[in-house]
Amino acid sequence: MPQDRNADLPKERLHLAAAYRLIAHFGLDDSIFTHVSARAPRDEAEHGFLINPFGLRFDEVTASNLVTVDLDGTIIRDTYGAGINAAGFTIHSAVHAARPEVGCVLHTHTVAGVAVASMAEGILPLNQWALQFHDRVAFHDYEGIALDLAERERLVADLGDRKAMILRYHGLLTCGGSVGEAFALMYNLERTCKAQVALMSSGARLNRVSDELAEFTARQYETATRDRGDPAIPDPEWEAYLRLALKHHPDLAE
Ligand SMILES: [Zn+2]
Repeated sequence: MPQDRNADLPKERLHLAAAYRLIAHFGLDDSIFTHVSARAPRDEAEHGFLINPFGLRFDEVTASNLVTVDLDGTIIRDTYGAGINAAGFTIHSAVHAARPEVGCVLHTHTVAGVAVASMAEGILPLNQWALQFHDRVAFHDYEGIALDLAERERLVADLGDRKAMILRYHGLLTCGGSVGEAFALMYNLERTCKAQVALMSSGARLNRVSDELAEFTARQYETATRDRGDPAIPDPEWEAYLRLALKHHPDLAE
């Protein structure tokens, strides 16, 4: 498996760098903005997380240049030397502090994601991807660019114990026990939004799945992905994504 060939690298750093490359690979990045964070290895920080160095494109992020920061904002390790983005710290530190079981937080600004985030009703039960998120997505109201640390309380109160959140007018957020879980949720959430925007743009009459069937399908998804948040349990989908990242972007492991 790919991570075995990179056994000298902390798994947290390798997997997070892969997530950055995959976000860029699939065109879900937004210049040097938005972030993916992961719980830091214990020998780097007792209660800290890893995040991208400010100013690097996602295709330039590597396992070794990820910045280690503690929950108070103290930079513990920063080999690139440019620090981190302030709004990124606000959002990601909020979730890592409030949800210790969360191993990874992923945030995007994609056209489809922002479009659905700007629709009054949010995600509609219009396709199978959407049903995974039926009644399971949190909403956070827009407060301007997230530079006010006081927004953290409202953000985590809105998120509650959910794994996906729509930031109104702004973008999408997923979190999971592992990088693989957060990434798979975001990949599916993105496709949900793309399909919804495509369908609504087509002008076709909208045909919603019933609440009962949507709830049944959401529970099927939960059963099928029950172990995904446990980094100790093999995750075939994430391993497939890791192979793709390492095949096309091998320098991520530097
Ligand atoms: Zn953002």
